[in-house]
Amino acid sequence: MLKKTRIMTPGPTPVPVDVLLEGAKETMAHRTPEFKKMLANASEGLKKVFRTGDHVFILSSSGTGALEASVANTVSPNDKVITVVGGKFGERWAELCKAYGANMVKIDVEWGDCVKTEQIEKALKENPDVKVVFTTLSETSTGVVNDIKPIAKVVGKTDAILVVDAVSGLIAEPLEMEKWGIDIAVAGSQKAFMMPPGLAFVAVNGEKAWNRIEKTRSPRYYFDLRAYKKKYTDTPYTGAVNLVYQLNKALEMIEDETLEKIWNRHAIFANAMRKGIQAIGLKVFSKKPGNVLTAVTVPEDVDGIEFLRVTSKEYGMYFSGGQGKLAGKIFRVSNLGYVDRLDMISAMATIEMAMYKMGKHVPIGSGVKAVEEMLMEGDE
Ligand SMILES: *Cc1c(COP(=O)(O)O)cnc(C)c1O
Repeated sequence: MLKKTRIMTPGPTPVPVDVLLEGAKETMAHRTPEFKKMLANASEGLKKVFRTGDHVFILSSSGTGALEASVANTVSPNDKVITVVGGKFGERWAELCKAYGANMVKIDVEWGDCVKTEQIEKALKENPDVKVVFTTLSETSTGVVNDIKPIAKVVGKTDAILVVDAVSGLIAEPLEMEKWGIDIAVAGSQKAFMMPPGLAFVAVNGEKAWNRIEKTRSPRYYFDLRAYKKKYTDTPYTGAVNLVYQLNKALEMIEDETLEKIWNRHAIFANAMRKGIQAIGLKVFSKKPGNVLTAVTVPEDVDGIEFLRVTSKEYGMYFSGGQGKLAGKIFRVSNLGYVDRLDMISAMATIEMAMYKMGKHVPIGSGVKAVEEMLMEGDE
């Protein structure tokens, strides 16, 4: 049967044709006034989405490059740091801090749950010499969104800085760097930016963050943020020219829709998917689900790996599986970025049909009905 490919994965996400076409334009030399202007424009747009008046740097790498840049620029060997580990991406912070020789205080959070502000407060009290707290806005591996605002308040009262992995959360969920007092936040192009993979962003907000960066003794070269600051808004190395064209187009589309409306859209869609999942008798895995994706517990009598094979091979619909210890135990349906109402209905319909096909006789149409009802309510 003919099928179209649909990616409902939390990165990469679908890319609008207008953004794709920008990438097809002729590559220009990167040391030209035209390209400099494009970089300056993109930097301005990025400040608006990160909600900071300070600097946002554009790196040519996947999101992990921005995570590594944050660690390399803030952690010296033996520096005490706090990492919050409640999933694969929290784990990545811990792995990076280990690689840079940090003296780590790890806050282990049950996968599927969020970190409590009190846990961070307590760890900071017990370890007044902590230099950096690393946490995650949207823990993409579990579908959980952490409450960053109170965390920023607590960290703000200490000498430590707060670094937030907002790779999948930025633009989908509210994040206010300046208002909440977040020192460093990072994002990547292939999530809510509606772009292909390849760019990563590091936002540095305020004196406290800059002082830490200056004091850090870890070796760094390509990811040395001081080099990016010196050249700002230009780029110290060859810019990913065509991706920057795409970034400008995507930022323009985001500004047109407005951040507030985009946050609202993500909230409506994620809520609709949760209701749909429950309507067919399945369970949402996350204890505090965010608006980025829905992590669904695979029923005991269903093979989670085979389910993903059926949805992609039979229907061209790509969901994500569980990562690390959640492999085979959950599947994840993204509503991140360039996703519309009918995408959500298609995703729900695919889940119902694939489950049914695999012998799990869910009430066909019940999920779709619930999704439609929630979407129509959201329209009002
Ligand atoms: C996607 C993602 C990353 C970055 O992963 P890359 O594969 O390096 O782009 C980091 N953190 C979170 C929370 C993510 O969702």
